[in-house]
Amino acid sequence: MDIQSLYRIYSQYPVICTDTRKITAGCLFFALKGENFNANEFAAEAIRSGAAYAVIDEEACRESDRFILVPDVLTALQDLARYHRAQLSIPFIGITGTNGKTTTKELINSVLSQKYTTLATQGNLNNHIGVPLTVLSIGDEVELAVIEMGANHQKEIEFLCSIAQPTHGLITNVGKAHLEGFGGFEGVKRTKGELYQYLSATGGTVFIQSGNAHLIEMSRTANVENAVRYGQLDGDLVTGKLRSSDPFLVVEWSYPQETGFNAYVVSSNLTGTYNLENVLAAIAMGTWFKLSPEEINTGIESYHPSNNRSQIVETASNRLICDYYNANPGSMIVALDNLASLKGARKAMILGDMFELGDESDAEHKAVFEKAMSVSAERRIFVGEAFFKLSGTTADAVFYKTTPEAKEALEKQPIQGATILIKGSRGMKLEVLAGLL
Ligand code: ATP
Ligand code: MG
Repeated sequence: MDIQSLYRIYSQYPVICTDTRKITAGCLFFALKGENFNANEFAAEAIRSGAAYAVIDEEACRESDRFILVPDVLTALQDLARYHRAQLSIPFIGITGTNGKTTTKELINSVLSQKYTTLATQGNLNNHIGVPLTVLSIGDEVELAVIEMGANHQKEIEFLCSIAQPTHGLITNVGKAHLEGFGGFEGVKRTKGELYQYLSATGGTVFIQSGNAHLIEMSRTANVENAVRYGQLDGDLVTGKLRSSDPFLVVEWSYPQETGFNAYVVSSNLTGTYNLENVLAAIAMGTWFKLSPEEINTGIESYHPSNNRSQIVETASNRLICDYYNANPGSMIVALDNLASLKGARKAMILGDMFELGDESDAEHKAVFEKAMSVSAERRIFVGEAFFKLSGTTADAVFYKTTPEAKEALEKQPIQGATILIKGSRGMKLEVLAGLL
């Protein structure tokens, strides 16, 4: 079936579903394949459960004219999203970067939704399936879209841009993550820079944090013409700085025509000084899209982080900084800086391995370890095979190869009355330890 015909069906049945457990009456089912499943086999069940049509790519599974056969279901989903996007004439803000994409996306959405009907990526649906699904969830009522784009290999952002066709874009930062897939830090910059390349080629607007030399260099490489700078310099769209950060960030900000930083003050629910750049990005975006300072501040104040991204949790025994949603060298270092900056004598840290660092894994774990040793803490607990290689180098830390081993030790010797940073890669499952604290 050609894309126009598929689009006519989608226009009638605009709710897309890819999971037979979540079928709703009249949805359009896309039978995707994964490593361990082939949804073509469930297409008939999807129709029986109420799907209007099922898009499949295996002829043998076709049972009636409600089964739409295409050469490849994933490609059909992506092509349909690209086609739908091209029919919409609203601003699309594309967000990528190494760290802080979801937080920045949520903040921007929280701000812009004070004035507009917005649609933002849900959770972390930022890949080659999540981006098309997000685009296809945009209805006529939406005035502005905020799309998170993630990548772990080169050309991925270019591809996602071809679907989302952003008119505005922001790279949060570039750092060391997924080094295996990117081929080192230069590969990270090239891949994230694909957003700048796309916006440069299409006349879009790029938002650049003026304090980040990497981003400025990348925007020059991409010949970006429409750049909006924000952050800290004269001439920036907005400037801002921290008033306090213990534990939540309070930010002073202003427009350049006003003197000094402190024209406006906003209290966020975020901890970690690194979140300042995420807050400033949202203030800049709100300013660009003509929100009042009051609307901007309300948007920032009403965002509460969730899902263990820099989340402060007070338990009966401790104050936890739950940051075990993910970890890479850059976010580890800034999280440790934040722990160091907090008041309170009793501090502890539980740090888990950082995955996907390839050849640089040993060196990066050593660097984070050294940083951790420089932060004063009553207890330092390292978990995982990579950190374990450093055991024996100090008496001021303990090492466990696995999370269950660390759990057993913590049960025997609990921590109490401390501020505890808990951070590691998702696969380390450090939530098992947080539950004990
Ligand atoms: P993912 O790649 O998993 O989608 P993300 O880029 O969406 O991640 P967030 O989910 O917003 O990032 O934040 C994940 C973690 O990254 C946070 O808990 C925090 O530790 C760290 N982080 C957030 N913002 C920054 C920043 N501006 N600089 C450095 N680290 C940050
Ligand atoms: Mg994310």
